[in-house]
Amino acid sequence: MNDSIVERIAFANLPSNICALSGQPIRDAAVMHRDLSDWWPSALLDMRDERICNLLIVERQVRDDYYAKLKRVGVVLAFSGGLDSTTVLHWCIKVFGEVHCLLFDYGQKHAIEIDLAEKYLHNLMQEDGLGCAISFQRVDMSPINAMAASALTRDDIEVASCRDVDDMAKDIPDTFVPGRNVYFITALAQAAYTRGWRHVSMGVNVLDYSGYPDCRPEFLEPMRQALAVGVFNGQDLGVHAPLMFLNKTQIIRLGLHLGVQYEATHSCYNGVTGGCGTCDSCILRRRAFRELGIDDPSIV
Ligand code: ZN
Repeated sequence: MNDSIVERIAFANLPSNICALSGQPIRDAAVMHRDLSDWWPSALLDMRDERICNLLIVERQVRDDYYAKLKRVGVVLAFSGGLDSTTVLHWCIKVFGEVHCLLFDYGQKHAIEIDLAEKYLHNLMQEDGLGCAISFQRVDMSPINAMAASALTRDDIEVASCRDVDDMAKDIPDTFVPGRNVYFITALAQAAYTRGWRHVSMGVNVLDYSGYPDCRPEFLEPMRQALAVGVFNGQDLGVHAPLMFLNKTQIIRLGLHLGVQYEATHSCYNGVTGGCGTCDSCILRRRAFRELGIDDPSIV
């Protein structure tokens, strides 16, 4: 049996002789994460408290079959070229056989991110041995801006600056674009349906975020169910949000492990190359790199 740190922790905390995937008694036990990211680096020891609730005890062969199955199918990803979605992009490449990225243009002030996202994908597609086919398309989402006012899209609303991190999640900031993720996840489901796929992915997370209510599982799970019924006619739909319960530091650590080129990612709400340093996104990003003891490589 693989005596990894993850498995030692899991077996000590989650004894079970029934496979969480098959429901059958286990003969050769293995662990997997609910978010399928069980290749975590050994440095995950200090994040075990957050991670342990995501562990499942499963039959090794059933797990391997499950991963092999995902490697034969595709996923549609909402990709912005930012820190979070670029980390998820690399996660999708690891898990799935094909990734199709949707680059949403909704009139955001930081539209620079779409060009950078394209550039990132072009570079990645040149790499050999990815083990995953990548494709992408730009999607015009201008109705979002037409229907909803936000500091991210309207010149007459300023992006809040220099907010205290503890205050960020207390109330909903002006950068919230109401309904944005409803459009996004619907478009992801449409693109998946069109390809005969049943998996979509987003880089949303509930920790270290700007207080957006549509980045929570309370939003994603009902949307997943509604789309499964209304788009896929009752077939199951996989909505993968592997960053959901990670903080920014953990996200970066995962991304570095997966080979993310963070110097080529863009997160600033004001669209400033290298970051303005004062918007919520820049503050959270820079704080996380500081905590890891490394310089944010995107700062110019
Ligand atoms: Zn900024």
